[in-house]
Amino acid sequence: EIRAAERLQLLPTQFFAKLVGKANAQIAQGHDVINLGQGNPDQPTPAHIVRSMQEASANPQYHRYAPFNGYLFLKQAIAKRYKEDYNVDLDPETEVAILFGGKTGLVEISQCLLNPGDVCLVPDPGYPDYWSGVALSGAEMVFMPLRQENGFLPDYAQLKQDDLNRAKLMFINYPNNPTAVNAPASFYEETIRFAEKNGIVVASDFAYGAIGFEGSKPVSFLQQPGAKEVGVEFYTLSKTYNMAGWRVGFALGSKEIVRMINLIQDHYYCSLFGGIQEAAATALTGSQDCVEQLHATYLNRRNVLYQELHHIGWNATPSQGSFFCWLPIPKGYTSAEFADLLLEQAKIVVAPGTGFGESGEGYVRLGLLTPEERLKEAVQRIGKLNLF
Ligand code: PLP
Repeated sequence: EIRAAERLQLLPTQFFAKLVGKANAQIAQGHDVINLGQGNPDQPTPAHIVRSMQEASANPQYHRYAPFNGYLFLKQAIAKRYKEDYNVDLDPETEVAILFGGKTGLVEISQCLLNPGDVCLVPDPGYPDYWSGVALSGAEMVFMPLRQENGFLPDYAQLKQDDLNRAKLMFINYPNNPTAVNAPASFYEETIRFAEKNGIVVASDFAYGAIGFEGSKPVSFLQQPGAKEVGVEFYTLSKTYNMAGWRVGFALGSKEIVRMINLIQDHYYCSLFGGIQEAAATALTGSQDCVEQLHATYLNRRNVLYQELHHIGWNATPSQGSFFCWLPIPKGYTSAEFADLLLEQAKIVVAPGTGFGESGEGYVRLGLLTPEERLKEAVQRIGKLNLF
């Protein structure tokens, strides 16, 4: 009998895998299923980035091992982007780590910092990968509920002193998955003061930094004075440039944490393929028109979706950022029951709020990763069920 280590049992269940399984069963029965459940960008990577990779892949230098922590040109490219977009200064050599997508860094930072018995503060609802790293390091999670009445921001005053005494790491994520709100600069200021006071490292997940609908760009944690002293920001090309399959992300900020993440990456992965690093640099330093187009597409889809939702009486506050919509469900159902009902009766896949934590009860998450016409059809099908 082959028995897994106990830590594997601590990993969160893959609820998206279950969701896909249920949807596939409906598709196998011949139903036209519209999947609004997952967060997988539907558009292709811009052609100039693909071309850059095609050309770079012929360079024999890239067929060898890349430098352990990645090429300096890519670190310079992300530093330049942060300077242009956020007026943040980053030293490419010491304040940038290249990751295999944001995900790896989000898991590794827990392994870098947490011992068994330590506490990590995690948003609830929140992106489930934060839980994975904490589980693998044998530490404890303390959830910070994100409530609508508080703008889906954590209320630090509600945390218990006993937990704070043991807390070493915390995750924040704005624009937020799943609640689709942005954070004001004042929230980051408050977070830095809180982290300094309690000796907690901040991991700011900025995966949706390029997708804000409020007119101005979402604020980066690193724009606040003192941010680099208390933490790092995780950035990814997955959403901004439709490069989810390429697996490129960054940890930016604190030199100590960048050093630790580089150390752990060395042991796991060595480095990304050089051709991908070159294409990633092309994405960051080339024309940013593609980012504007992507933004316009999501804004348009968001507006269409909320207009349609309004027609069927499903009223919700429009998303401020990310490519998700966080919608309160009618009374009388759990979020899992409601998601099952939409799949069975309308053939629409949505993610139940509880997939992101207990405080997600009462909501479902819809993605804007489907063309406008399909979004309209999805809401029209839901409208026919007369649930609102
Ligand atoms: N953080 C959040 C909040 C996400 O939703 C995602 C992806 O869905 C990621 C991080 C990780 O993205 P990637 O590993 O593709 O960079």
